[in-house]
Amino acid sequence: MTLANGRHYLAIPGPSVMPDRVLQAMHRPAPNIYKGELVEMVESIVPDLKTIARTQHHVAMYISNGHGAWEAALVNTLSRGDTILILGTGRFCLGWGEMAAAMGIDCQIIDFGPQSDIDMARVAEALTADTAHTIKAVLAVQVDTASSVKNNIKALRTTLDDTNHPAMLFSDNIACLGVDEFHMDDWGVDLMVTGSQKGLMTPPGMAFVFFNDKADRARDTAGLVTPYWDWRPRSNPTEFYRYFNGTAPTHHLYGLRTALDMIVKEEGVEAVWHRHSVLARAIWAAIDTWGNGGPVRANIADHAKRSNAVTTVNMGEGNGQKMRDWMTDTAGVTLGIPLGGLAATPEAASAFLRIGHMGHINAHMALGVVASLQAGMAALQIPHDPSGLQAATEVIAQG
Ligand SMILES: *Cc1c(COP(=O)(O)O)cnc(C)c1O
Repeated sequence: MTLANGRHYLAIPGPSVMPDRVLQAMHRPAPNIYKGELVEMVESIVPDLKTIARTQHHVAMYISNGHGAWEAALVNTLSRGDTILILGTGRFCLGWGEMAAAMGIDCQIIDFGPQSDIDMARVAEALTADTAHTIKAVLAVQVDTASSVKNNIKALRTTLDDTNHPAMLFSDNIACLGVDEFHMDDWGVDLMVTGSQKGLMTPPGMAFVFFNDKADRARDTAGLVTPYWDWRPRSNPTEFYRYFNGTAPTHHLYGLRTALDMIVKEEGVEAVWHRHSVLARAIWAAIDTWGNGGPVRANIADHAKRSNAVTTVNMGEGNGQKMRDWMTDTAGVTLGIPLGGLAATPEAASAFLRIGHMGHINAHMALGVVASLQAGMAALQIPHDPSGLQAATEVIAQG
């Protein structure tokens, strides 16, 4: 017997739930790619992307996933033999560094582990030690989707400034753009990458690199740049086809246009941030309360360091795996798997699950996940304080 038949809810940290309107906008015949609606639409997408990123500078669009944006960021700014600083807080910045290392870039790595955000004192130490200023860029994720930690990107800029270090600041916002508050220009971020399939509520397949003039000056000498990934024609195209260096991702663009209408024009970026913050706090209230009566706890203890996009939960050894199976098979909700780096052994990793709460989600969806998890804990006999659900409803009631 299953209770899962009904609309399935993919509550993983990307791809996120796609609005029906986005899907419907994509369900159409192939458009004219030479002139007219599609061409105008792409031109309208650029300013809306910049509005979400809070930047007045440049954006290059790619037909790729987030990994493609990582590679684009590296090739447009760096050369083989350059040094960069990688700040690991889970999995993703380390992955970006592995890609850079494979391209011949020398990576200095500080790994803060999977339960911690970036410790600015240690970054300051590394930057101060680099008296010759060999470090060309400091790479961080705003939100690490494995650990669900949120790093303080603004403080990272302050750390660079306080140590008088000229390195560029790169931020991976693939998990959290349009979810967690972010101000590219005000926070002094030189380059930021994101993808279409998380906060932007559009199918995977498009990625974006935002960059300022300082990063663009690095492009002048970047030895790794290749014609396809070059951001210059894409960000300042002389002809329409140069936006994508070939055929445009026509249907993704229709979906993205609709998603941007919803985020920028209808709800508003600040309201979108607020909605995510309330829904995340509701989920956290449940998790924190459950833990009073059992093993369940959020991977990141400090609320200020949690992300509004994703929450990694430690359910107790073996329980993460069992709970994910129960949720999919019985409740019709699929939760995220633990990613590498969270735990040292497969047994330890079996404690974890991740709840994606980014994008097109609302109060009943967040409460549905919480209530289903609580039912699952009862069914699987995982000890918990059952007032967790009540605690979540109170957060929603307060708005
Ligand atoms: C999802 C994600 C990526 C990878 O994106 P893909 O589209 O899967 O290539 C990179 N960084 C972060 C922080 C992410 O959340």
